[in-house]
Amino acid sequence: MTSPRDKFPTDDHGWAELLPERRATAPLTGSRRVPWVVIGAGLTGLACARRLAQLHPDDEILLLDARRVGQAASGRNSGFVVATSHFPGAIVAAQIDNYRRVNRINQAGLELLSRQVAQHEIDCQWQREGFIHTAAGETALREQQNFLRYLDTMEAEHEVLDQAALQQRLGTSHYRGGVHIADGGLVQPAALVRGLADTLPANVSLHENSPVYKVTDGKPLGLGLAGADLRADRVILATNFESVSLNFLRSRIVGSTLAGSFTRILTADELASLGSLAEWGAISLHSGGATLRLTRDHRISIRNTAEYHGSVLLTDEQLARRQVIHRQAFERRFPQLAEVPFEYAWSGVEGISRNGTNFFGQQRKNIYLAGGYNGSGVSRGTAFGTAIADYASSEDSQTVSDCLASAPARWMPPRPLLDLAAFFIVRSRFKGVGLDR
Ligand SMILES: Cc1cc2nc3c(=O)[nH]c(=O)nc-3n(C[C@H](O)[C@H](O)[C@H](O)COP(=O)(O)OP(=O)(O)OC[C@H]3O[C@@H](n4cnc5c(N)ncnc54)[C@H](O)[C@@H]3O)c2cc1C
Repeated sequence: MTSPRDKFPTDDHGWAELLPERRATAPLTGSRRVPWVVIGAGLTGLACARRLAQLHPDDEILLLDARRVGQAASGRNSGFVVATSHFPGAIVAAQIDNYRRVNRINQAGLELLSRQVAQHEIDCQWQREGFIHTAAGETALREQQNFLRYLDTMEAEHEVLDQAALQQRLGTSHYRGGVHIADGGLVQPAALVRGLADTLPANVSLHENSPVYKVTDGKPLGLGLAGADLRADRVILATNFESVSLNFLRSRIVGSTLAGSFTRILTADELASLGSLAEWGAISLHSGGATLRLTRDHRISIRNTAEYHGSVLLTDEQLARRQVIHRQAFERRFPQLAEVPFEYAWSGVEGISRNGTNFFGQQRKNIYLAGGYNGSGVSRGTAFGTAIADYASSEDSQTVSDCLASAPARWMPPRPLLDLAAFFIVRSRFKGVGLDR
């Protein structure tokens, strides 16, 4: 017999695997009637619950997640906290207002996270010194020229780096060009979401391992859970691509599965071969390129595969096969570390729409939704989550207006055609995955 939990498969891999054990909060049980329920305790849901608690100090806010905090995309991403998004291709004059709108949202999320991490002293390797966009081959070098024109137009502070400067900073001669963006951050993503979850306001009750399998209309709304009878005045869905399993965003969003590996902790000599920076993040200007980090705890992480895999994680056997691709890319960049083994591998699923848009607004009466950030949801998800709390509470803000202006998502065909369409959408989004030339 299948249980609602089976619809939310997970594993213990990823950045959470590098952290000490954390005890999950208890699943929701019993009969409850509350003013607010937020479903999904990723960055969107955590930000939403925090903001709702602030706006409604006398209300109880229930925050439910099907898994443990840190096991979904919010705890498995590469930890780039983006201020200025990269829109591939030549700058399009008619899109300049849109670029500015998205960057305002990013900036709002970055500021929120910065404040929350500082206020609650969240131990998550947070740094806000920007990161580097890299170009290894001709395609990426051409894209760098587009990107530089865009950064000038956005007036985003940046520094152009040549091969020697990149070698000096990152310890690899693989990249022939790059751009350091001054604003933006890096973080240990699982430590961030755990820290956010553990410092929620007192009127938020977080229940992990509590999958919601149904939301029914009415006054109040009804929520189906295995061990609880729950009613709510308002529900916010922060359920990313899994909104589909609750019958929202059907044919509008799918999950793309990405995978990466971590080395063991590097020795002092190995670190010394890696240039002048104590920690860094390097993200490719090639759509299929690798994302790399040197973490504060002295590991290199490399993520360079992305595929449509039915919106679920990879099995251990599949991960082992992807790790061969990670290994090739790693040794190409760091031949001096060819003897350094990988210690961990992980996969994660991000929500993508056909036209790269995000979702924000009211879905049905008293049911709101925010999500689907196409691989860029750390800062943006935080801003969307905060803004959806404002919107559902009839509060206005620049971020609410900016989120509301997200373009409608383009339609995708139903299954089984969806599988085929999603395969091609993901393949074209990450063209040349693993090659980075
Ligand atoms: C490998 C990888 C690398 C990435 N790198 C970056 C990066 O460097 N920078 C960046 O900005 N973005 C990155 N992203 C994207 C980013 O992680 C996501 O956009 C962001 O975390 C989405 O946050 P979210 O809270 O909306 O969704 P999620 O983190 O997916 O959270 C949704 C939550 O809802 C829960 N849920 C779903 N359905 C139900 C239900 N029915 N009942 C109860 N709970 C439910 C899930 O268990 C989950 O915890 C990356 C993503 C991946 C996978």
